[in-house]
This record gives sequence, C-alpha cells and structure tokens, in this order.
Amino acid sequence: MIKEDCGIVGISLQKDSLLIFDYLYYTLHTLQHRGQESAGIAINNEEGTFIHKGMGLVSEVFNKKRESIKGNTGIGHVRYSTSGESSLENSQPFLIEDKDRLFIIAHNGNIVNHKIIKKDLESKGYTISSSSDSEVIGYLFIEKLKETDDITDAVARLMEDLKGSYSVVILYKNKIIAFRDPLGMRPLCIGELDKQTVFHNNSSVYESNNTIKGFIIASESVAIDTLDGRLIRDIKPGEVVILEDGVITEEKHLVKLEHTAHCMFEYVYFARPDSVIDGRSVYDVRMAIGELIAQRANIDADFVSPTPDSGVTFAIGYAISSGLPYIESLIKNRYVGRTFINPNQEDRELMVKIKLNPIHNNVEGKKIVLVDDSVVRGTTSKRIVNILRKAGAKEIHLCIGCPPLISPCYFGVDFTTNDELIASKKNISEISEMIGADSITYATIDDIVTAIGIEKDNLCLSCLTGIYHI
Ligand code: SF4
Repeated sequence: MIKEDCGIVGISLQKDSLLIFDYLYYTLHTLQHRGQESAGIAINNEEGTFIHKGMGLVSEVFNKKRESIKGNTGIGHVRYSTSGESSLENSQPFLIEDKDRLFIIAHNGNIVNHKIIKKDLESKGYTISSSSDSEVIGYLFIEKLKETDDITDAVARLMEDLKGSYSVVILYKNKIIAFRDPLGMRPLCIGELDKQTVFHNNSSVYESNNTIKGFIIASESVAIDTLDGRLIRDIKPGEVVILEDGVITEEKHLVKLEHTAHCMFEYVYFARPDSVIDGRSVYDVRMAIGELIAQRANIDADFVSPTPDSGVTFAIGYAISSGLPYIESLIKNRYVGRTFINPNQEDRELMVKIKLNPIHNNVEGKKIVLVDDSVVRGTTSKRIVNILRKAGAKEIHLCIGCPPLISPCYFGVDFTTNDELIASKKNISEISEMIGADSITYATIDDIVTAIGIEKDNLCLSCLTGIYHI
C-alpha cells in the first residue's frame, strides 16, 4: 500500500459556536484516507488556543476529547509521513511561536529544499524542533512577516523560496490563511457553509435552530460535502485566500507560472472518487480510464472484476466500454483493524487472507479481467492473483489504471527510490510473470491525460516519465 500524503482543513465561521470542533472533527474523518498516522485540531477563541493532536486515526486521537470548545476559527490535519519520521513531534498542526506572534500551521505536500531553508533559519536563531518540512514553512512565514508586516506579501515572498508541493492552512488569531503552491501539485478547494447543520455529541444537541455561516478550505471537496456546504472553486496554484470571521477578506493570485503540475496520482489513487479536483470529478476520470483501457485491451474474458475497493470505478468503466459483465471475485473484510500495520512476513500472508476472500463460485474455471488502480512493488497484485488462482480462475488478465511507475516521487508520495518500483526494473512481460498474471495491460500516459482532461503540460507525470518540474 502506498502511503498517502496528508489532508488539511480550515474553517472560519461568522460567530463563535460549539460546532467548530465537530465541523473539524467530521471533516477530518472525511479526509482520513489521506493520512492515518496522526491527527490534530487547533481552535482559536477568546480564551486562547486549543490544540490537540496524537498518533492514530481521528476517532482514536479524539475519542475522549470531544468536549465543548467554543470558537469561530480552526484548522485540522491528518498525516502520513512523507518528510520527517512518523512520530508525535512531527504530527500536525504545528504551533509556531516567535516573540509576540503565534501561528498554527497544517501542510500537505513535500518541500524539497526544506533542509537548506531550515539551516538558514537556524543560523538566524530559530529553533526548529521537528524533522518535518511543515514546521520549516511556519518559521519561514514568520521570517517573511518580519520583512514585511503584510500577510499577503509575506506569503508571496515565501512562495519565492519554497520548492516543492504545498497546500497550507495557517491559523492566526481569527484568520485562516490558505495558499497553494504555484504548480498546484496538491489539491485545495474552498466552500461556503450556509446551511443548518446539526451534530449530536455524547452530552448535548446544540444550535439546532441556528444557521451557521462561514467558509471552509479543504484538501478535497468531500470535506465540504460533509458539512452540507457548497463547493465554490479550487484555490488557484500560487494563490492565497484569507478568511476572517466567516468571510473571505483576501483572494490574491500571487504567482502565475506558465505551466501548472497537478499530480495525476491524486486522480488515479489518492483522492476519494466522490471528490472534484481542479474542476474534474475523480469518479469520472477513473471511469474514463477504465473505458480507454478496455478499448485498447480487447481481452477475451468471461467478466470484469475489481480489486476491492481500489479498482472499482476503473472496472465499471471497463465493463461499460467492453460490454463484459461486472462481477465481483473478491470480498474485502472491512473490519480488519490497525493491528496489522507493519506486519512481519508471516502476518502479512495472514493479513491478505483475512482481508480478501474469493467468491469461489464466481471464479472457478473463469477467464477474468481483474482491474486495479496501480502497481507499485507488485507484491499485493501477486498475492491477489494467487488467491484467484487457488480459487480455480482459468485466466487472470490484470488491467491497471495507472501507467507503469518508473521514477520516485519527491512531492509527497512515499515511493522515493527506484527500488520500490517494480516497473523501474522490469518490463511488462517480466512484471506479468512475477505477478503470475496471464497478461497485464496498463493505462497509457495519453489515457491518463485524456481522462483527466487537463493538458499534459499542466500535469505532473514525473513518476511515469522520470522528467521533473523542479
Ligand atoms: S511524481 Fe507522481 S505521485 Fe509525485 S506529484 Fe508527480 S504525479 Fe504525483
């Protein structure tokens, strides 16, 4: 499994409300797929700053913390470590303090030059306690604010120095300062909250008759949906948006590059299919990729089947385009807990058996098109093919929604060396042999570009091509 990067959210309401905590808590649940190592929430109110974070899932970190915290401004974060190790000290949001200034920052992405910036900041007297690049962004922001007292100008100066991917929300007094890197690598969108939303917690039902107005900025539009909000638009690459007391006080496009570099992997792997990113429905993109693979592959098979759950949308597209029936061949146990994270080899084998079970009647003697989203090391695909073979499948033709991953990602995805990528070492027939499939058909780069509907020059395809924007 590829570790995803992070999910962020910032919420600004027009008035103080006990709902602020629940809004953040539920949106982090919605973004949980983007990071499961740690979670954190920070809220500012008249009494000061509430910040709580910890290792684990949102429900684990906040199990006993859902007490009443009134406020109108807050941010949240779920994390997978892509820079800095997985530890509490690296979990977010980060408190950034310098003399009379106090910020709290949550970041999604990876800053490739963060070590150089950190060294420079340390030489200026800053103490940066974690190994996370996100804390470096926070202190760099403070440094820029010393040069110019204007927040927008400070963000513009920050963008000049930072190299890499970053979608950021900063909590500062009653403001949310949100910005996205000029290449637009990681998603960030804004929505409006103007409907009545009622949550029940253990102790109370509150504000059921009031409409709470405000704005939300989040990694994915599904977070806005959760609060019955309305997606307004994506934050533009290189743009800063500032929210204050539930209204937008600043929208400024600071850096416009000739090309953007939206991560294609958000569409094929990271994001939830019910999200809309940069104007494109992730579900539609995955369906279209499945259709395009089917048109080219033209495989003689009895039915199309997804790898649960990652291959589902691609497989539906394949089935519609090919005319083959869509039939499940594997059932996923959705109740396998976190006990199996970092298992040894023996546990790993057991984990696959507990996680996925074949439907013998569907599989026996059948020629199957098995569809998945991506192949990284090939080990998971090999195990799945093995399960189907043991269940009596006659032929297994693997179709993959992402073209061969041949080069590391330095922008927030955890395949950072060639060794982790089977396609960097083996050709397609060697991969097919290693996995034990009768054939493998990958989506092509052109399929991906066509399906996403963004020009090739404006997408990051570096892990597919080995050509880097930075
Ligand atoms: S290298 Fe691949 S995974 Fe990384 S940002 Fe680019 S497209 Fe996304």
